[in-house]
Order: sequence, then C-alpha cells, then structure tokens
Amino acid sequence: MCIFCRIVAGELPASVVYEDEHAMAFLDIQPITPGHVLVIPKNHADSIIEVSPEDAGHIMRVSQIVDRALRESELRCEGVNLFLADGKAAGQDVDHVHMHVFPRFPGDGFELRDPGLGKQPTREQLHADADKIRKAMEKIL
Ligand code: AMP
Ligand code: ZN
Repeated sequence: MCIFCRIVAGELPASVVYEDEHAMAFLDIQPITPGHVLVIPKNHADSIIEVSPEDAGHIMRVSQIVDRALRESELRCEGVNLFLADGKAAGQDVDHVHMHVFPRFPGDGFELRDPGLGKQPTREQLHADADKIRKAMEKIL
C-alpha cells in the first residue's frame, strides 16, 4: 500500500483538515509555506488521468474549499497556489495523485522558474503545437 493509502486507512498519522467518502485533505509534512495542504482522492491512482471524472471534479471542489479556508484562517495567506505534479518528470515523488494547495504571501521565497522566458514562439509554431494536441484529443473525446 502507498503512503497516502496508508494515511487513508489510518495506519499512518496525518493532520487532517477535511475528509469525506471520496477525498481527504491533510497537511504536508514538508510545507512550502505554513498551512500547505495535500488534497487526495481516497481511491488510489498514480496519475490524474486515471482518476474518474467525478473524483477529479471532487478534488478540485475540495481544493477550492481548502483555498477559501486558508484565506479565512489565521495563517498568513494573501494568495494560494494549486499545484499537481503528474509524473516523475513533472516532480511527482509520491505515486498517489495529490493536489498541493498552499498559502502565498510576498517574500515567502517560493518561485516557479520558467525556462522559456523571453522566447516567444511564432503563431505558426503555436498553431502547429495546438494541432498536435487536438489530434490526440480527438481520440480521447
Ligand atoms: P510531490 O513531490 O508532488 O509528489 O509531493 C509529495 C509531497 O508529499 C511532498 O511535499 C512531501 O513533503 C509530502 N509527503 C510525503 N510523505 C508525507 C506524509 N506522510 N504526510 C504528509 N505529507 C507527506
Ligand atoms: Zn495510494
């Protein structure tokens, strides 16, 4: 069983902020900022693309509630990031889908580095990339 499934099963400790039949939200043990929450579906899935549409929608709804709670809490929170790493190359370390929801404030030290900064592709290139994505999407929808 993965570590998050063990949290769901009550075998590992967690600081839980929300739980229902399908989802759970608890504090990250290595918070980016104080109040950093992980929202997970209770059913194990490695990737968001394996999650049912209902669970995927529910994870977003719970993240929305956590976002609001963080903003209305006594924790420092002037903005919120929602972040989901899908796959190792995207920075996923725990192979149970989880949405990071964490407070942001000026000077918190967190930054997303954009390696493409300053390199704006041509419209032709953007159209070509959009074509590739649409072609793949036609097989999905
Ligand atoms: P990611 O790198 O997106 O896979 O994020 C995994 C996150 O899970 C990291 O931020 C870890 O600090 C966090 N984490 C790992 N083990 C636990 C645990 N037992 N309880 C809460 N958070 C955890
Ligand atoms: Zn799991």
